[in-house]
Amino acid sequence: MKSMLKCPLCKKPADQTHKPFCSDRCRQVDLGRWLKGSYVVPGSDEDQPEHLPGDVDK
Ligand SMILES: [Zn+2]
Repeated sequence: MKSMLKCPLCKKPADQTHKPFCSDRCRQVDLGRWLKGSYVVPGSDEDQPEHLPGDVDK
């Protein structure tokens, strides 16, 4: 039985050349995220406001 790898990013079937990703693009994106994650402490860089402007009490 051959296991079907899926791209972790877009869930498309993985490509032989770029597995486990479907394309070089997805591989690069994932690599970028991984590298970023090792440098940036989660929650300290991008603080999302709880209330979005223009979307309050309507
Ligand atoms: Zn992909």
